[in-house]
Amino acid sequence: MKFDILTLFPEMFDSVLGASILNKARERELISINKVDIRDYTKDKHNQADDYPYGGGAGMVMKPEPIFEAVDDLKIEEGTPLIFLTPQGKTLDQKMAKEFAKEDRLVLLCGHYEGIDQRVRDNLVTHEVSIGDYVLTGGELPAMVLIDAVSRMVPEVLGSEESAIEDSFYNGILDFPNYTRPQSYRGIEVPDILLSGNHGKIATWRRKKALEETLLRRPELLKKVQLSKEDKGLLEEIKKEMEEGANG
Ligand code: SAM
Repeated sequence: MKFDILTLFPEMFDSVLGASILNKARERELISINKVDIRDYTKDKHNQADDYPYGGGAGMVMKPEPIFEAVDDLKIEEGTPLIFLTPQGKTLDQKMAKEFAKEDRLVLLCGHYEGIDQRVRDNLVTHEVSIGDYVLTGGELPAMVLIDAVSRMVPEVLGSEESAIEDSFYNGILDFPNYTRPQSYRGIEVPDILLSGNHGKIATWRRKKALEETLLRRPELLKKVQLSKEDKGLLEEIKKEMEEGANG
């Protein structure tokens, strides 16, 4: 998977993409990153990539010419998504990350200041993606969030395929609680079942805990996910246990 990032601040990406799993994925050539400094495509001696908004008002707007020319230079294949990170976009979720991971190449455009000239959005951008209902100073952090979420879905980027499958949202519900050594810490014990060596019972316990976490924290997710007969049974058990707990 190749990511091209169009940005005014390429240096912001170095630490995030140069560490941990994403760095390993780059070293193994599972993903590649091409940072494009939009300022390199400015023509004036001050390398000005932004200008005052027509019609007046506060803030600066990123100029269209350097972005159009930077995109021309990328020689993008037909059908390649060109994603503008914007709070006005569709909110990034796991499903979207999985879909984008099927592409060979993604071009990410990071806005700054008040945003970018509308002609870029109307004529170059194919997708608009938000990372949530709040406004950041620039599209660089959202681009890094998207790259991380998408890269995890690229085959072999994660050490074990299972670590994605059991994650929250991958199959529509939240993850189960995890424990590691020591078995007892400050008198707090790891649940016995996890030490039993009975893989069938451990799998059922984990599924039940995942359903319980989802019911408690994000009950709306349970309405969207397809539950098996066993899941429905486990949910009944959970609700009964909750009622019993509430009644003392
Ligand atoms: N005036 C814009 C608006 O209200 O929609 C916000 C501009 S914001 C200060 C500057 C840039 O940060 C945006 O062009 C976008 O690239 C990025 N940005 C800010 N918040 C974002 C979010 N929640 N998701 C994705 N990108 C965001």
